[in-house]
Amino acid sequence: MDITGSSTSARSTELPLPRWRQLGYRYNPTRLALEQRFGVRVQKISIDAGFTCPNVDGTVAKGGCNFCDNRSFSPSRRLPRAGIVGQLQQSIDHMRSRYSDRRAFLAYFQPATNTYAPVEHLRDIYAAALAHPLVVGLVVGTRPDCVPDPVLDLLDEFAASTYVCVEYGMQTMHDRSLDFMNRGCHHDAMIDAMQRSRGRGFEVSAHLILGLPGESHDDMLASGRELVRLGVDSVKLHNLYCVKNTPLAAEVLAGKVQMMSQDDYIETAIDLIELLPPHMVIERTHGEAPPDYLIAPTWCLDKNAVRNAFHLRLDQRDTWQGRLEQQV
Ligand code: SF4
Repeated sequence: MDITGSSTSARSTELPLPRWRQLGYRYNPTRLALEQRFGVRVQKISIDAGFTCPNVDGTVAKGGCNFCDNRSFSPSRRLPRAGIVGQLQQSIDHMRSRYSDRRAFLAYFQPATNTYAPVEHLRDIYAAALAHPLVVGLVVGTRPDCVPDPVLDLLDEFAASTYVCVEYGMQTMHDRSLDFMNRGCHHDAMIDAMQRSRGRGFEVSAHLILGLPGESHDDMLASGRELVRLGVDSVKLHNLYCVKNTPLAAEVLAGKVQMMSQDDYIETAIDLIELLPPHMVIERTHGEAPPDYLIAPTWCLDKNAVRNAFHLRLDQRDTWQGRLEQQV
């Protein structure tokens, strides 16, 4: 076996290996996919455009998802809020001072629900970000129940001239888990959003959480298979983690909800990645939160250690993304 996990004799009868496997990766990482598309190293810049969320303001539910503190997963919401251009410039200056190879940037509208405003306002803020000469595209994080057709039409309009990716917070395909997290919508919203998104000019990414209470190993893999069926272009995998001052924190501190161990998480995430087709981009293999926010699990504080353990386990299992794709 070589590093790609294929014997030479077996490979001669198979389809050509995807580029990422030829380069020695065991999954299709976002860095490589972006470099291939843009020809240079591309960095996402998190932007806080000041959105709230229909799950916070009472439109679909109150209180938000039980795990949600946007400051824990969006660096831009932890900073004093500057204008969009100011945030971009600050982050670009910072990135370029640390990493000389970053020459192009994606404006990532990250915290809260970044399509939750009238279309004309959305047009203005997206256009403001794209006007920066080093910004080569948009990434827009949102809920699948918050993308009416005029919003998708707008994103499609931008996608005609630049790279656009819409990130849907799917989290799971199981409605009982969506109820547990007080999501304020069910999986039919994701199905509907995908039906109206597919075939447009933008890419679609989905967030998936592993380790939701009550979900079996098979339940989690079923959500992975659903990503394939829905036809998303990329996925961000997260372990459920718990941050302070959230409804989930009370349940975790009371011992009612347990977090997955690192070993369980890695094993499950790899089982899931084996089912995903080679063209799907893996944007994240695990979640992380800043130490001053996190309650549990503490293993996700050391993202390099988790990444190394993930890669080591892929090697030990001698497996790769798509190895079991035919079983989806
Ligand atoms: S949909 Fe997103 S922003 Fe809104 S409450 Fe849930 S996690 Fe937070």
